[in-house]
Amino acid sequence: MLNLDFHPFGRHFLQIPGPSPVPDRILRAMSLPTIDHRGPEFGHLGLKVLKGIKEVFQTVHPVIIYPASGTGAWEAALTNVLSAGDEVLMYETGHFAALWHKMASRLGIHARVIAMEGETDGIPNAWRHGVQADLIAKHLRGDTSHKIKAVCVVHNETSTGVTSDIKAVRQALDDLKHPALLMVDTISGLACAQYKHDEWGIDVSISGSQKGLMLPPGISFNAVSPKAIEASKKATLPKAFWAWDEIIEMNKTGYFPYTPNTHLLYALSEALDMLLDHKHGGLEAVFARHLRLAQGVRAAVNAWGLPIQCADQNVYSPVLTGVILPTGVDADTVRKTIYERFDCSLGTGLGKIKGRMFRIGHLGDTNDLTLMGTLAGVEMGLKLSGVKVQGGVQAAMDYFGEHPIPALKT
Ligand code: PLP
Repeated sequence: MLNLDFHPFGRHFLQIPGPSPVPDRILRAMSLPTIDHRGPEFGHLGLKVLKGIKEVFQTVHPVIIYPASGTGAWEAALTNVLSAGDEVLMYETGHFAALWHKMASRLGIHARVIAMEGETDGIPNAWRHGVQADLIAKHLRGDTSHKIKAVCVVHNETSTGVTSDIKAVRQALDDLKHPALLMVDTISGLACAQYKHDEWGIDVSISGSQKGLMLPPGISFNAVSPKAIEASKKATLPKAFWAWDEIIEMNKTGYFPYTPNTHLLYALSEALDMLLDHKHGGLEAVFARHLRLAQGVRAAVNAWGLPIQCADQNVYSPVLTGVILPTGVDADTVRKTIYERFDCSLGTGLGKIKGRMFRIGHLGDTNDLTLMGTLAGVEMGLKLSGVKVQGGVQAAMDYFGEHPIPALKT
């Protein structure tokens, strides 16, 4: 049961960077009856979503759908292509990159973790910047015997609001003719920020349902290149449920080797209709919308005079903005005030930055006025918490007012 003691009326503002709000249209699609997952109707549904999700990853190669959260898809990615004792290069951009590393270690993979050095005001510099491709190149250059089997990076680090330049990482691998696989977590980047699995030469992309795809949590994805499929034939880490081969085979007819999550696939089908709809500009319009909404939020944070967690404007995330609070102000107490007084959930600071910052999600089913309401709640909550800020709401209003959503090309 939801605890409605605080706020029995009005709509909750779910402004965490995922799970993101689920559009009514998707919720309605999920209310359809369960169907036989071996029957003819299911085959149509399966083929439709498997085709559509490839368009979202911008790939012509298979995308595997798991009835699991993103963590499951992380494990699937590692276990399909690696063997016990393999070395991988992992880049720490924040909490999720660190968790992926922890998982790799538990699986018996030797991960070399690299990160930007140093810290400022107790916040690691690595958690305020994107992946530095030259640092990756430096490590790969030293690996003349090609011991490193994969390079693992996070596209949009949800704990910090930093989006990394994946093309630059590919370039580093290509320049050195290093054969390692490129594995990318785009759990919160997909369907928010530009992402081209094939063109950027990614071998395994990992994503989840509860962010840009606007679905409830519960399904996740591996998009796989032919090189990754070849690697999976030789890799020896134990895999059964996660194994790509049987799933890819059965997916050819739209079915799955296990009982799939039919209702989340109904939801996915509806989400694909929304995201890929050419009348609304398709994926390019989705990316442009996120960039614009993010600018409006940053206008507010800048006017408040609070530092943005991402210290490099070139890699600001279109998905979320991390807001650093003055030393001595507990970000979770501020979040609690905003939740209790204004019915708005913001993302907590995770891991090394807990209590120092909070995160405003601006992804998925969101628009100017949803964000204006959110920013009003944040500004009021900051003032109630003793943080002297002003003008953020006005700055965002000015930004949104002066930057109308571009008209679609017809
Ligand atoms: N990677 C990133 C970048 C994430 O944002 C998340 C979750 O927010 C995960 C991995 C883990 O996914 P899940 O919580 O769906 O298991």
